[in-house]
Amino acid sequence: MPEPRLFGARLYRASTIAGMNPSSFTRREFLQSSAAAGSGVALARAAPGTLWGQAVSSVAPESIPAWASRPMRWFQLTLVEDDPIHYDPAFWLDYFKRTRSEGVCLSGGGCVAYYPTEIPFHHRSAWLGNRDVLGELIAGCREQGLSILVRTDPHATYDDAKQAHPDWIAVDAEGKPRRHWSSPEMWLTCAYGPYNFEFMTAVHKEIMTRYHADGLFHNRWDGNGICYCVHCVANFHAATGLDLPRTTSAQDPAWRAWMLWRQRRLMSLLDLWNATIRAINPESSCIPNGGGALSSLDDVEISNRAPMMVADRQGRSGLAAPWFIGKTAKEYRATMGTKPVIGLFGVGIEDRHRWKDSVTSNAEIRIWTLDAIANGMVPWCSKFSGTLHDERWLPGVEDIFVWTAKNREYLVHERPIARVALVFSQQTAWYYGGSQAHAKVEDYAMGWCQALVESRVQFEMVHDGLLDAAHLAPYKTLILPNIAVLTEAQCDQLRAFVAAGGSLIATYETSLYDEQGARRKNFALADLFGVDWTGKREGPMQNSYIRLEHEALPHSPFFAGLEDAPRVINGVSRLEVTPREKFAETPFTLIPSYPDLPMEKVYPRVPRTNISCLYLRQAAGRVAYFPFDIDRTFWEVLSADHLKMMRNTIQWATNEPPAVQVEGPGLLDVTAWRNPRSVTVHLVNLTNPMTMKGPYRDFFAIGPHTLKLALPPDVRAKEARLLVADKIIPMERSGATVSVMVPSVLDHEVVAIDI
Ligand SMILES: [Zn+2]
Repeated sequence: MPEPRLFGARLYRASTIAGMNPSSFTRREFLQSSAAAGSGVALARAAPGTLWGQAVSSVAPESIPAWASRPMRWFQLTLVEDDPIHYDPAFWLDYFKRTRSEGVCLSGGGCVAYYPTEIPFHHRSAWLGNRDVLGELIAGCREQGLSILVRTDPHATYDDAKQAHPDWIAVDAEGKPRRHWSSPEMWLTCAYGPYNFEFMTAVHKEIMTRYHADGLFHNRWDGNGICYCVHCVANFHAATGLDLPRTTSAQDPAWRAWMLWRQRRLMSLLDLWNATIRAINPESSCIPNGGGALSSLDDVEISNRAPMMVADRQGRSGLAAPWFIGKTAKEYRATMGTKPVIGLFGVGIEDRHRWKDSVTSNAEIRIWTLDAIANGMVPWCSKFSGTLHDERWLPGVEDIFVWTAKNREYLVHERPIARVALVFSQQTAWYYGGSQAHAKVEDYAMGWCQALVESRVQFEMVHDGLLDAAHLAPYKTLILPNIAVLTEAQCDQLRAFVAAGGSLIATYETSLYDEQGARRKNFALADLFGVDWTGKREGPMQNSYIRLEHEALPHSPFFAGLEDAPRVINGVSRLEVTPREKFAETPFTLIPSYPDLPMEKVYPRVPRTNISCLYLRQAAGRVAYFPFDIDRTFWEVLSADHLKMMRNTIQWATNEPPAVQVEGPGLLDVTAWRNPRSVTVHLVNLTNPMTMKGPYRDFFAIGPHTLKLALPPDVRAKEARLLVADKIIPMERSGATVSVMVPSVLDHEVVAIDI
């Protein structure tokens, strides 16, 4: 009998490499205890197969405990300390029922215990009395058959704990214990020492022993930056031979060593917590909060340790179009594969001022949640405070949840239909972006996401730690948005991808840095790009342009939509490169910067050059390299001309008809899924004056739209329906293509085609 694959399989290898505590649960122990637990571990999600004729990636089928795979709706109720005498548990149990919630996350302990804990310095709610609030809620949820996670938050503690255990407290660079910035009666704890490894382990053991929960959800478990306590000083020195860093510069070797040491420390903490609770409930798991492209912890490592992950993106912040939550879903899926990715949304407006008790418009909550669902997330509504100060959000969340319950069979999303993938690189964020990771890394990705959504191109995201052939198999085109840090091994994987017929689009400093964040003399991918870096960089450029070489290349596909454009704006930063070969096509050439003031002086000094702005090669696959920041500039100024250049480049690189085409007006996030008995296509209507910042007040209907779906030869469409309009609609067949008409989309529509 083949050995079952379990979600923790890679955990133990990582522990061994890191030289970590061998007390971690071993794989064998886990297998034995899982077997002893009987049939509760249900096989969830799909086995690999083919998708539109392509081998489907990636992650092997894994057994996921049913408690994690089954829920399609989660509700998190985070109690505040005085809730025990104010809040109404019956109201919440009824609301879980009304929303058809299938999983809950309930407050347990850490900062505040909501049950009669026996552990010294585990602070019981001052309003708890003799009650067991957690136990009461769990009992009510068990009656409803819900999956149950218990939330703990270890990031702060009190004076009595500090007096007895001063070494539990986080220490700043001057050697002073750190007060909590918002609740000054509390102290920040050290996440890397005995507070987490001993005290919180005891808390987790007690909770699991008392309640036999399905899992634990850990909020703010991963520390408050560098800690200079006695344990951190000693442990870091013992592990690395270095003193703790005094800077957070990516160029500081101590900082880089600390980041890796912290990761190993926290992964061993997760292993310890998992081992502790699985000794009591073998199917249980720790679900650590965190993750995503800018996380300081490796998403691959975290994903290997959890049967599901929760993406805590409660709402917009700054400029965040609703597709941002869809991008987040794709990021998490990149390392979670077929395991559930949960979209944690709030009902308020927070931003950096953190109005934790606020309620925003139903339209805003709705568009955020609909885009999460369209991108494959399981929705998780998170509410702080069981005592409601504002109830306006209740019907809206209920409405979304009930709709997903009604359409469950079409929303169990199995495999995304996408041929384009955007690579993201945490190591580039850490070692090249540093404290400017948003500007130097994320803005490039955001530009491509905006262009892909506007172009209605279905896409996925790929983690740069998973560039192996199996993970890349579903994709024809990979986009590398200024992925500056790439190892030689990763570059070899990209070469293999192109050699096997895959196409690459890369921008700016992609592959110019090594894994230490040190700049190379030349691109590691110079051979693929066909150019060498001269060592010169220009920027920020003012008033520079790009000439379209219409005469040399009439009817070039790169000029689609730009037929009447002699020139377009340039980006802001460019690298000077020299071609290694003669390029067959040079559609775009540089018009160098010229003065932008006084106005009398604003005329091109050099109207034309032969300096290319886009290098195009046909290897086995196609390679397009932009030696400038087209993507970052697009995110900054959103020029329609840059959009067309990017879109045309994606089409050239992908060089095949799309599986899904939607024609009609407006800005739509179009996602498509191959499910067990359907192809499900989501049309989320982002057309709104508030789109780019996200404070939706209302929706504006658009339509009609025509959806064309190219089905693989072995798939026959039986019937088409609209899940929002709630009706069966006619289908037109032409060869392997089916077309349907969607008359109108208000906030969203979902076309489900039974197969
Ligand atoms: Zn410490």
